[in-house]
Amino acid sequence: MLNIVLFGPPGAGKGTQSERLIEKYNLVHLSTGDIFRANIKGGTELGVLAKSYIDKGQLVPDEVTIKMLESEVSKCPDAKGFIFDGFPRTSAQADALDNFLGTKGEHISIMLALDVPEQELKKRLLERAKVSGRADDADPAIIQKRIDVYNSETFPVKEYYQKQNKFSDIYGIGSIEEIFDRLVNAINNIQ
Ligand code: ADP
Repeated sequence: MLNIVLFGPPGAGKGTQSERLIEKYNLVHLSTGDIFRANIKGGTELGVLAKSYIDKGQLVPDEVTIKMLESEVSKCPDAKGFIFDGFPRTSAQADALDNFLGTKGEHISIMLALDVPEQELKKRLLERAKVSGRADDADPAIIQKRIDVYNSETFPVKEYYQKQNKFSDIYGIGSIEEIFDRLVNAINNIQ
């Protein structure tokens, strides 16, 4: 199985690149942000809970997020592999994912981290707000909060995979195709 963690700050391009990667490698795309938003739209109990955190730019609690992710993986027993987009976002989530995949005799193949400077992220998110209708993209204070949470809670997850020699840094500025080629190169170099 090819199991990829696509990592990077809000606005780094994870969703855009995921769409291309799933097509090329025939993977299942699991975006925790997308799953939360679908639940919000559907008015589920999980959606109501998630919305109270997302609207403030905070992370949804680990326990809820981990349970949801595990249930989504279990829905796809025949998958050739997964792209985890927006997960793990904390060290506890990374641990939970390793343990969970371990029970299935599987593991993460690589973490691909999209590297984009903060100024560019803010520009992209405000631009995305015009078409996405996402309230968390439209407010500069919420964007700043998400970037701060990323720097304090999510950035350290890199080390988790660096220690396992499963980490690849990808320069995230350039055309969508250029960045995609960098990701494919990194995947081809997995030992
Ligand atoms: P971004 O563009 O900020 O990467 P996402 O669509 O991945 O946005 O996530 C939107 C929001 O959903 C996050 O700001 C957070 O509140 C919540 N969220 C998504 N994934 C997780 C996760 N793994 N753990 C906790 N909260 C999450």
